[in-house]
Amino acid sequence: MTRTTLSAEASVEGAGLHTGLPCRAVFRPAAGPTGLRFLLPDGSSPIPALLENVSSTVRGTNLTLGGRTVHTVEHILACCAGLGVHDLDILMDGPEPPAADGSALPFAQAMMRAGLAEKTGQEISALPLPGPVELNDGEAFYRAEPAGGLFLSVVFDHPHPMLGRTEIALEIRPDSFLREIAPARTFGLREELDGLKAAGLAKGGSLDNAMLVERDRILCSGGPRFADEPVRHKALDLLGDLALLGAPLRAAVRAGRTGHRNNVNFAKLLSGPR
Ligand SMILES: [Zn+2]
Repeated sequence: MTRTTLSAEASVEGAGLHTGLPCRAVFRPAAGPTGLRFLLPDGSSPIPALLENVSSTVRGTNLTLGGRTVHTVEHILACCAGLGVHDLDILMDGPEPPAADGSALPFAQAMMRAGLAEKTGQEISALPLPGPVELNDGEAFYRAEPAGGLFLSVVFDHPHPMLGRTEIALEIRPDSFLREIAPARTFGLREELDGLKAAGLAKGGSLDNAMLVERDRILCSGGPRFADEPVRHKALDLLGDLALLGAPLRAAVRAGRTGHRNNVNFAKLLSGPR
């Protein structure tokens, strides 16, 4: 398929979810077949969004190269995977992209406003997937089979009475991504909040950028966008982590009890011993 970037620059500004630090993320069209890359203002070399650069998967996926880290990259990467953007330079003046509204929608809308551009003469091949790939780790499970497109089936099964078991299955195309996945916001449990803050996480978290799950209600600005918003956000995070493969995935993926660590480990299995 023809490699795709954006037609023009786009940007999103705001504080990061975990660091709370301000950041302007500029999406700059990439002329060459350079993949998805993060660039920091110190002029150092770009950090490619590839599995080999994953340095942490605690409550988000962080990339590190040459001692420089970008935090919580998965929502921007999910937009690229969902919309079919293969090459993009993401310039950031802070260490973590804006939390925005906790979903990927503000990034996706910025990219769609800029427009997508096919780069005639530059081709990208889907990731070779000769057969099924499975990962099982405790209650987490992942399976991928070769398919004609990218189909995600994600199960979310949580003992919390406000969460329970939900499932979403869809083909990832730009229209389905924008409608079904991009708007789903991140969430956290009330009882986890103190621990997260003590660990230096969620410093930028608020009801404007996350859903807070309490014993008998879910709090967030504007109310829930979907009855099953958490499982949709799990699909969003999985899609973003799979973008670290650096090539389009043509597979039917079924996964449950997902998290960033296993998402990345599964992507490593998919990338194979090549
Ligand atoms: Zn997320």
